[in-house]
Amino acid sequence: TRETFLIANWKMHKTVEEGRAFARELVRRLENVSPKHQLIICPTALSLWAVGQELATSPVMLGAQNLDLGREGALTGALSGYLIREAGARWVIVGHSERRNLFGETDALIGQKVAQAFEAHLRPILCVGESLDDYRSGQTFAVITRQIEAIFPYTNSEVLKSLVVAYEPVWAIGSGEVPEPKQANEVAGLIRQILSKQISDDANTVPVLYGGSVSSNNIHQFLEQAHIDGSLVGGASLQVDEFLKMADIG
Ligand code: 13P
Repeated sequence: TRETFLIANWKMHKTVEEGRAFARELVRRLENVSPKHQLIICPTALSLWAVGQELATSPVMLGAQNLDLGREGALTGALSGYLIREAGARWVIVGHSERRNLFGETDALIGQKVAQAFEAHLRPILCVGESLDDYRSGQTFAVITRQIEAIFPYTNSEVLKSLVVAYEPVWAIGSGEVPEPKQANEVAGLIRQILSKQISDDANTVPVLYGGSVSSNNIHQFLEQAHIDGSLVGGASLQVDEFLKMADIG
């Protein structure tokens, strides 16, 4: 049996005060409830500390949306995994398609970031996914294979066991369009198969999530798929009510 997750990726939304208010309300609503999934909030880097303080007494965990390479040094504007961990986070999203496409992150850089996350004792949530062109030209499996294999040169099999992967088709992000749950399930299965080349049977315990236009209206179709162990949610994670609905908490 694998761990299951509901992860909020707030992207560039919410001020520190808004983030804090969300966290406070979430903690209040979770009193006397034991969530059936692990819940993780990934606010902006600027809000990590404050949101983490609010979540401290709850089961909800904290994640960052990105990290930079290195520990400390003359790296203006950069944020290391060590600083992120020190601010209270235990998780970090790596290789989100917005980082790949809007900030020019390459497969190789993302491989190094995954390694760096492990070194800083953060669990990476590695995002992979094909573009609309890749999808239309039947390249989905090839793209996913390339993106996953790109991290192998940088990671050993011991740490890879604690990886979490999120399958996010780029064309499904923020578009209101989603793949057939069965199709997403197939890709999730493929991801585990690729990982098994490196970590054999341990790949069976690596959680694979689906992300892209998930809301309380459609999350269940994905969660019921055999290979899908939860979701990474953008827009629909910004409201406490909707977040709790997706977590199946009323
Ligand atoms: P949306 O849920 O807004 O489509 O975003 C998905 C996503 O990119 C989560 O990382």
